[in-house]
Amino acid sequence: MRNLETTLILVKPDAVEEGLTGEVLHRLEKSGLKILNCRMLRLDGPLLKEHYAHLAQMPFFPEIEKFMSSGPVVAVALAGESAITKVRDLLGPTDSAKAPKGTIRGDLGKDKMHNVLHASDSLETAQAELRRFFGSTDPRV
Ligand code: ADP
Repeated sequence: MRNLETTLILVKPDAVEEGLTGEVLHRLEKSGLKILNCRMLRLDGPLLKEHYAHLAQMPFFPEIEKFMSSGPVVAVALAGESAITKVRDLLGPTDSAKAPKGTIRGDLGKDKMHNVLHASDSLETAQAELRRFFGSTDPRV
């Protein structure tokens, strides 16, 4: 492997509730990504605020907090060749209504907020998010 990376995804509460976790993981595994670790958790106030700190000034921030704490999320650490960009490409753009068919958000999401998955968007954020949710940048069990 030339560019082996590990990235983090969160299956959002509505997608977990709707039973989409298996479909999402199936698509990611089919693309060659390997699950290194996974856990289900509820995002509490401080964790949520830290995770979405870059959006704290946005008008929709209170809505994100409400939505993301409305039920459990599934956090998964995934490894593979260029895993960070590979997951973002499979995911599609933020707004599910505009995401192309064939992408996870285009096929399974609803709108800008209800867009199935969070996924790390750079090496730096992947490392911070792996530490945040698994305590390590190498969360192999
Ligand atoms: P992405 O998840 O594609 O990396 P951002 O980091 O910009 O996108 O935003 C984080 C999350 O905040 C999005 O996944 C979405 O759930 C929510 N969000 C972003 N922009 C909006 C918006 N304009 N209205 C409502 N929710 C939004």
